[in-house]
Amino acid sequence: MEGMQDRQLYVERQESKPAQFTCPHCRQAAEYTVRWLVREKKKQLPRGAGAEERQRFAQARSYMVRVDEQLACRNPRCRRRFDVPTQQSVVLL
Ligand SMILES: [Zn+2]
Repeated sequence: MEGMQDRQLYVERQESKPAQFTCPHCRQAAEYTVRWLVREKKKQLPRGAGAEERQRFAQARSYMVRVDEQLACRNPRCRRRFDVPTQQSVVLL
C-alpha cells in the first residue's frame, strides 16, 4: 500500500481515536488515545496523470494506518509500556 505515487492518490491526515485497553502488566483497563494516519482517496486525479496512475487510482480505497504501536499504561503505579493489543493496524474505510 506504500508507494511514491500515493500522495497523488490520497489526502493524508492524522486522527486520534479513543479505545479501551487492558494493560497486560497490571490488568487495569483504561481509555487510551490511539493515533491513526488516514489516507482518504482524492475525488479525482490531478491533470496529466498517466495510465498507470489512473489504474492505481481506480483500484485505490481510503484506508487508515495505525501510528501507535505501543502505549504507556495510565495506572500511575504501573506506567509500563505495552503493545497495542490488536492485530489490526490497517483499516479500510
Ligand atoms: Zn499497567
